[in-house]
Amino acid sequence: MNNRLYGNLIFELSKTGRKGYSLPKDNFGGYSADELPDTLRRRADAMLPECDELTVVRHYTNLSNNNFGVNNGFYPLGSCTMKYNPVINEEIAAMTAFSGLHPMQPEFTVQGALRVYLGLQQSLCALTGMGGFTINPYAGAHGELVGLMVIRAYHASRGDHKRTKVIVPDSAHGTNPASAAISGMEVVEVKSTADGCVDVEALKPLLGDDVAAMMMTNPNTLGLFERNIPEITALVHECGGLMYYDGANLNAMLGISRPADMGFDVMHINLHKTFSTPHGGGGPGAGPVGVRKGLEEFLPVPRVTGDEVLVMSEERGKALGRVSAFGGNFLVALRAYTYILTLGREGLRMVGPLATLNANYIKERLKDLYELPIPGVCKHEFVFNGLKDKTTGITTMDVAKRLLDYGYHAPTIYFPLLFHESLMIEPTENESKETIDAFIDVMRRIAEEAAREPETVHNAPHNTPIGRVDDVLAAKQPVLRYETDVKAN
Ligand SMILES: *Cc1c(COP(=O)(O)O)cnc(C)c1O
Repeated sequence: MNNRLYGNLIFELSKTGRKGYSLPKDNFGGYSADELPDTLRRRADAMLPECDELTVVRHYTNLSNNNFGVNNGFYPLGSCTMKYNPVINEEIAAMTAFSGLHPMQPEFTVQGALRVYLGLQQSLCALTGMGGFTINPYAGAHGELVGLMVIRAYHASRGDHKRTKVIVPDSAHGTNPASAAISGMEVVEVKSTADGCVDVEALKPLLGDDVAAMMMTNPNTLGLFERNIPEITALVHECGGLMYYDGANLNAMLGISRPADMGFDVMHINLHKTFSTPHGGGGPGAGPVGVRKGLEEFLPVPRVTGDEVLVMSEERGKALGRVSAFGGNFLVALRAYTYILTLGREGLRMVGPLATLNANYIKERLKDLYELPIPGVCKHEFVFNGLKDKTTGITTMDVAKRLLDYGYHAPTIYFPLLFHESLMIEPTENESKETIDAFIDVMRRIAEEAAREPETVHNAPHNTPIGRVDDVLAAKQPVLRYETDVKAN
């Protein structure tokens, strides 16, 4: 808000000779710059901002206030599970016993950290029914790639080289086809039926001895439980393919139903979604990959193993090589393990039902004003197809922008691609009834505004530092340099 006073760039606040520090004179034994070898000396002074401390503090504090996170307010960003990261996670991750570790330390000095990896692997196995997990991948998308590489390695180990196709539902997250393509396989799309689930009849003709895997998300990106999974997994297994479970939506069924029991062979989990670790702005995250019993040998190295004494084994055999530096994002894994131990078995079983209750409550209280293309009970999230009244000219984009004026993060918009005006809401289990009711009131008020004073909604946001940007121009002719009067000297 105060950008006008405290600058967009710290350089714009610079005044020659101002200082935000004081160093004692001559504390370095009287060396002067003249004694540095000529080759190491600057030709010109570095262009650094010259500001007093208070200006620096205000500048960065005001910038940080323009950020919006779960700690600022309600963040119903569908598909992203923006759940609260409990303070205890941060307290544990900040302990110097963990944060002070170096990845090159001898193993006997990091037994506690290795025990965290092992404990997390075992918890994830228990929650999913899988036989083994690697914590190494950095994100969900990275996990998908690693999982598909495991599947490829499995087929190759059997001399089965003609399996090059990966079947992906049309409702899938964009990372699914992207990961399949990057892993060197061919993407084949399978359609959904009108009720939003994979069309089994459309799947059948795609199956054959060239299918490496089918990827599925459950509940899917419409927030619907895929009812035909037993039939689908049987069909895919019959033709020799493996089933990949995109675990981004595991939150809805955490501790209640398990992907391995449904017939999935390989999966990933987004620790930064389901297991509450910080999320957004590109990382750090973690996307552990699990495999059913019998496929463990293909998981990448290094692997944490052992009983009394734990080791990071580099033993290859049929295993994939390294997919990340060391064991992945350790402090993210530590936060997730803290969350699991804090909630315990009973607490974890409450997560899915509460997230599901919250989503259904919002859906039911808004469906008279917003178009619900697929009626019925949803899981942890659901999709509206814009406002019900199509005569106002107000789009999903307008509604999302207007929500910012009221202090809410926008829901996910224009995804999934199955509807023209998708507006995807995921409240998570964390929110109180008061917060959810307040959000519902604002959504209803925006629908009224759309009818009564559409210009207000169409020109929103009105209260944010930046108004509406031209997103087409931004995509086609991005301006990647900030223009300023400040010149390098
Ligand atoms: C978030 C998400 C992904 C990608 O996960 P990242 O951790 O963001 O890489 C994949 N699939 C689905 C369904 C998701 O919601």
